[in-house]
Amino acid sequence: MNNLYYIISFFIFGLMFGSFFNVVGLRLSTNQSIIYPPSSCPKCGRRLSAWELIPVISYIILLGKCHGCKQPISWRYPLFELLTGFLFAASYIVFGMTLDLIIALTFISGLIIIIISDINSMTIPDEILIVTSLLIIIELLIGKGYQKAFIAIGNGLLSFILMFGIKFFGDALFKRESLGGGDIKLMFLIGLVLHFWLSIFVIVLGAFMALPIAILILIIKRTNIISFGPFLSLASIIIYLLKINLVTIINYFIKY
Ligand SMILES: [Zn+2]
Repeated sequence: MNNLYYIISFFIFGLMFGSFFNVVGLRLSTNQSIIYPPSSCPKCGRRLSAWELIPVISYIILLGKCHGCKQPISWRYPLFELLTGFLFAASYIVFGMTLDLIIALTFISGLIIIIISDINSMTIPDEILIVTSLLIIIELLIGKGYQKAFIAIGNGLLSFILMFGIKFFGDALFKRESLGGGDIKLMFLIGLVLHFWLSIFVIVLGAFMALPIAILILIIKRTNIISFGPFLSLASIIIYLLKINLVTIINYFIKY
């Protein structure tokens, strides 16, 4: 019972943070201030009152339409609120009340803001990468000592260099920009938490997930440009929360 209480608390906690991440992701990607002005309808500019800002519930009460102008509210708002709620609850279930939970919540929060921002404007704000990486390095230093923190930073750098290499060959192969600078910097954060070998697995899984979406976008929108950041982020979250490590991967391939 006690455990269920915590799971629900982390879910609600996640809903509220998700609502904040929506604001941060959208405003940072369009170079607006996070704190000012207060939330308003992007269509009619009307300021939102407190009851219109309750995660998910407001969207349902409003039937997905602005109370003032009746224009539809993006489904991305409740989607990312729910996603954050589920991922916060899942992090608690996986890690329990440990230091790893704090690192998990920091990592997942950063990645959700990156996904929102990248979908909105195809950019990954440096601010988010820097703040998230620094927080995790501090958490590692305090909780696991400087040796583990330095190893983690090394893994981040190796992952960064690997992605830089992939971009270099990709650009030469496709004769155009294959990966954005944001994707390369994002690999530092992913390598920092997941370590180098798993970050290779993240790139492979991310590419697998991106492929069907890329084909769909090519057919519908007739463009072959999609952002890779959300797929790298989702792949990292899956590998991280399933606690997949090198041993599980090697065992899997030995079995088949
Ligand atoms: Zn409106």
